[in-house]
Amino acid sequence: MIGLISATAAGAAARDRLAAAWPGRTRVYEGGPAGESVRESVERAFAECEQLVCFLATGAVVRLIAPLLAGKAADPGVVCVDEGQRYAVSLLGGHGGGANELAAEVADVLGCAPVVTTATDAADVPGLDTLGWPVEGAVAAVTRAVLDGERVALRSPGGVWPLPPLPVNVSEGGDGDSVLRVTDRIVELGAREAVLRPPSLVVGVGASKGAPVDEVLGLIEEALRGAGLSALSVAELATVDAKAAEPGIVGAAERLGVPLVTYGAQRLAGIAVPNPSGAPLAAVGTPSVAEAAALAGGGELLVPKRKSTPEAGAGAAMATCAIVRRPPRGRLAVVGLGPGARDLLTPRATAELRRASVLVGLDQYVDQIRDLLRPGTRVLESGLGAEEERARTAVAEARAGHAVALIGSGDAGVYAMASPALAEASDDIDVVGVAGVTAALAAAAILGAPLGHDHVSVSLSDLHTPWEVIERRVRAVAEADFVVTFYNPRSRGRDWQLPKALSILAEHREPGTPVGVVRNASRADESSRVTTLAGLDPATVDMMTVVTVGNTATREIAGRMVTPRGYRWQS
Ligand code: SAH
Repeated sequence: MIGLISATAAGAAARDRLAAAWPGRTRVYEGGPAGESVRESVERAFAECEQLVCFLATGAVVRLIAPLLAGKAADPGVVCVDEGQRYAVSLLGGHGGGANELAAEVADVLGCAPVVTTATDAADVPGLDTLGWPVEGAVAAVTRAVLDGERVALRSPGGVWPLPPLPVNVSEGGDGDSVLRVTDRIVELGAREAVLRPPSLVVGVGASKGAPVDEVLGLIEEALRGAGLSALSVAELATVDAKAAEPGIVGAAERLGVPLVTYGAQRLAGIAVPNPSGAPLAAVGTPSVAEAAALAGGGELLVPKRKSTPEAGAGAAMATCAIVRRPPRGRLAVVGLGPGARDLLTPRATAELRRASVLVGLDQYVDQIRDLLRPGTRVLESGLGAEEERARTAVAEARAGHAVALIGSGDAGVYAMASPALAEASDDIDVVGVAGVTAALAAAAILGAPLGHDHVSVSLSDLHTPWEVIERRVRAVAEADFVVTFYNPRSRGRDWQLPKALSILAEHREPGTPVGVVRNASRADESSRVTTLAGLDPATVDMMTVVTVGNTATREIAGRMVTPRGYRWQS
């Protein structure tokens, strides 16, 4: 919840705009019936909310929150907006409290400028506490060393994890005055050492009905401690379906802050384990719950099944657990960059480009977004063609544990890299797709409303598809009266396909059917025109162009192409 506090009429107006923009996310604190003071509002919001937006001077907020500060981990993120609403200042909890992001979001809604002063953001290096993983130790000192260009040794004994790009002064294997460890092991930390906790451990849990949370949690913590493992690296608890709602297990997962994953008894019964037993077989239908559930997703059994110690006089042990370490999983993001314009690149695409330590793509697309990449990003660019090789490279880098972004223009899944990449990819990597604005949509928005009814896309490139197949599809499009957008319509070596396709359409549509031609949609040299089936000169079309042909109901109205939503115009 985001608490909103204001003191003046201007502040209250801005506050209300924010509250209206974010329904359900905010709570307004204002003088209640008893006439709460601004100080009291801030105190209450500070205690009750994860984040605060104060429409107050920074000085006033500093004085009000100073006595309330408890520490980086506990304090809410605080953003201040000035009386003129020119700035959204991230004042407290820039990383941990999310105030930097909140300042950017507030700035978006109110149309002001975000102000962020935390060092890592200013230098465009990811803060150690922003990776989404827990971090312990001398975080501030190591972050400063990373930023200052000092030598920092990265030690990741468990293998390569999909970290975001780190600058060149952070090196694996090398020496350093500071050390950044990536491990699930409990380690002695020196004065200039920090440790990132990767999500590597899965704890399988079994429990009899009514097992207390404390007994389950106590068992898990003891098992972790005994094996020298950090609870912060636990990625999930796992159990059998029948125990999905067992309060002791559900409660333990909640207290650890991890999801509970469950498997069917039959699936668990098929997993080879070192310590099967008769009791769970009789109760839930599998000879192993804890070990089998922990092993179900693969990995190495570090702690075989152990039983809880019941409270004195409380009878039999009620819980079992086992711990498995999963190998690191790389991450492949398949990212569509949109048609060209920066403001048609989605924020999600930007985030994935900055999350990746390896970027794979066609050189001209890399140029489109190079300024967004973080320092230290390894860029693997190649020229036209080489598609299969790019796909293979991206998958291989992800399988080696890296965070990879494979980029494509428009939507990366439309006549582009997603298919060859995913045809290569195995289930040992995580894949994330980010939708992009495809050329047909970018062009349609320029032309008017040509896609108002059923429509298809057809690529006229016969490099990968025999022309007979393409022609059959164009014929089907013509007969079914679809609006059609032609991708790859014409190149120097392929000049007869577009006229042929248009002639097929002309057998079913009037010569006056509107046709939209858009070249370099949303790019600097964008051009477009609306013409007709009979009037289109194919020589004006090239590979930077899409051609959209209307259906029998499409009209040109005021120079724009409009396809009615029904086949009869409503007057
Ligand atoms: N993945 C891309 C399409 C790749 S196929 C997408 O979703 O948009 C390449 C063809 O797309 C080009 O020959 C051209 O027909 C079309 N195209 C891509 N970007 C375009 C743009 N900005 N303007 C017009 N056509 C474009």
